[in-house]
Amino acid sequence: RPHTQGDAQFLEDESTKIFARKVADHYSARSNQTLEEREASPIIHLKKLNNWIKSVLIQLYTRRGDAVLDLACGKGGDLIKWDKAKIGYYVGIDIAEGSIKDCRTRYNGDADHHQRRKKFSFPARLLCGDCYEIRLDKVLADDAPFDICSCQFALHYSWSTEARARRALANVSALLRPGGIFIGTMPDANVIIKKLRQAEGLAFGNSVYWIRFDEEFSDKKFKSSSPFGIKYTFHLEDAVDCPEWIVPFQVFQKLAEEYDFELVFAKNSHEFVHEYMKKPEFVELMRRLGALGDGNQDQSTLSADEWEAAYLYMSFVLRKRGQPDKT
Ligand code: SAM
Repeated sequence: RPHTQGDAQFLEDESTKIFARKVADHYSARSNQTLEEREASPIIHLKKLNNWIKSVLIQLYTRRGDAVLDLACGKGGDLIKWDKAKIGYYVGIDIAEGSIKDCRTRYNGDADHHQRRKKFSFPARLLCGDCYEIRLDKVLADDAPFDICSCQFALHYSWSTEARARRALANVSALLRPGGIFIGTMPDANVIIKKLRQAEGLAFGNSVYWIRFDEEFSDKKFKSSSPFGIKYTFHLEDAVDCPEWIVPFQVFQKLAEEYDFELVFAKNSHEFVHEYMKKPEFVELMRRLGALGDGNQDQSTLSADEWEAAYLYMSFVLRKRGQPDKT
């Protein structure tokens, strides 16, 4: 029986759901590491570098008392960063049940956990759900508006279809106040596509990561393809093994404009490091996190392969149009 339009739509919806589940199951199954396991990770310095990048973004754009929406918050690895920024309220959402459970434990203070620390100073609401499918403006009507939204290492999971990419942006736009800030870190499509074109086949990588594109992209040109649904498999040692989707930045920026966002900046992680390591307070933060040894202005503590993996990512800052209400 030939496919009708309806069948094709149905199949696309089904496979989108299956992939979203795959991503959720992958993250759900990743258990909390002990401090010793974490320090022994082959990508420990990359993890620390990424934490530094997220901390810098948070410190640059958060003001005391802010209401924060953390999309795809995972296990709550950024809770301490938000606490240091003295936020007033936090809502975290993630599709992975296991991660939200760990996040709750971390927020409530688990005696066995390595962070034996004082309680967080802000109230929080933690939810499990698909941020790229559900109407968050309805679910969070009583919590909005937010001053800042953060989506760290996760927005690319929304680019499996145009509908999901739009839902992600519509959700953030509807929940932020005018003038509110949207920060994020995601794979840098320019770098990934450049590496794919330099590769012999459809796969490339090093000792800490590999990326493999589907056969359907064997021409490596993407001219005829839609900018949505460009799928690859990403493996990052000790961290990720997942289907992911390319986010062509120009298309993303244009789409974001449709949802009332203007670009403040977008920077590859290498450029980000070079730029913010010029500021003494962030050099000191880097030293405290132990990502680049004693605050050397180079990548000396990361292995060359970790530094190359860092190059796969970029950070962005968008601002929702409009003036904040005067209070
Ligand atoms: N933002 C956290 C951080 O920086 O530590 C977690 C990053 S982790 C690499 C990616 C997260 O995205 C996972 O926790 C995963 O469950 C979440 N995620 C993926 N697709 C999602 C979706 N559709 N809705 C909500 N969360 C999603």
